[in-house]
Amino acid sequence: TVTVFGSCNMDLVAYAGTAPSRGETVLGREFRTAPGGKGANQALAAAKAGAAVRMVGAVGEDEFGAELRANLADSTVDVSGLRTVPGRSGTAHIVVDDSGDNSIVIVPAANAAVQGLVEGDEALLASSSCVLLQLETPLDGVAEAAAAGRRHGVRVVLTPAPAAPLPAELLSNVDLLVPNEHEAAVLTGHDDPHRALAALLELVPEVVITLGARGSLYGTRQGEVVEVPGFPVRAVDTTAAGDTFVGMLATALGEGVAMPEALRLASAASALSVQRIGASGSMPSRPEIEAFLTS
Ligand code: ADP
Repeated sequence: TVTVFGSCNMDLVAYAGTAPSRGETVLGREFRTAPGGKGANQALAAAKAGAAVRMVGAVGEDEFGAELRANLADSTVDVSGLRTVPGRSGTAHIVVDDSGDNSIVIVPAANAAVQGLVEGDEALLASSSCVLLQLETPLDGVAEAAAAGRRHGVRVVLTPAPAAPLPAELLSNVDLLVPNEHEAAVLTGHDDPHRALAALLELVPEVVITLGARGSLYGTRQGEVVEVPGFPVRAVDTTAAGDTFVGMLATALGEGVAMPEALRLASAASALSVQRIGASGSMPSRPEIEAFLTS
């Protein structure tokens, strides 16, 4: 079982030719709402990749909260650890431009209530193979979940997004860190992925840096390095590419798949997702991923 401890947001997405710069107003072409949030996205991606998944987090009492909960449950995600708290659900205000790039404002709302483990969460974590963490919920809670994962021998995987300085205590309980190129640069001060990788491996035993269309770079403290090429596809919307990658990666590792093959599956899953509009709706199923790899 993969347990995701993290955020649930309703994505409010505007599609425009170019994103507005400061002080500028641009005309958009289309507006959509879609369930999102890095936590929920990773949960949905893992469920579609074939894992048994549990979501620990919080939604608000508004209509978005009910929709977010139902969307996870409909995708077979166990939502017994998803609380409903007073106030609004988290929202993400996203602009996607014609090149498929996005810029995002996140209002945490209910996600700010995920301050740590509550009654029952530890039992959910203890019976998992892997816990997936991100930084869209308060850092103290993320650190507590990482510590609980470590206590129970669960593989702790952290996506350090949005990029923020990481306390040593949190890092000491992380097994695998999965930043994108930008986050790796913020964490280390190195733009060069190989240098960033080396710096991050001084903090945690295993690291995957995702490099957008260029693929990803994996390394271990023991000196193993794997460069995973990206699949040449036409990207229309890269929202949640990284979350799709991590969801597939965790699922494969939970099945006992070796890291290089797990990375190939993750690369394929995310390459499929960037060819479709949206976040949760864009995640491929396991049969689609397998078919893509044999085509
Ligand atoms: P994030 O979505 O977190 O910013 P990346 O942009 O690095 O992360 O994308 C995560 C993964 O998704 C990459 O490692 C790659 O495998 C895949 N990916 C992203 N963009 C593309 C693309 N344009 N073509 C093919 N694969 C892509």
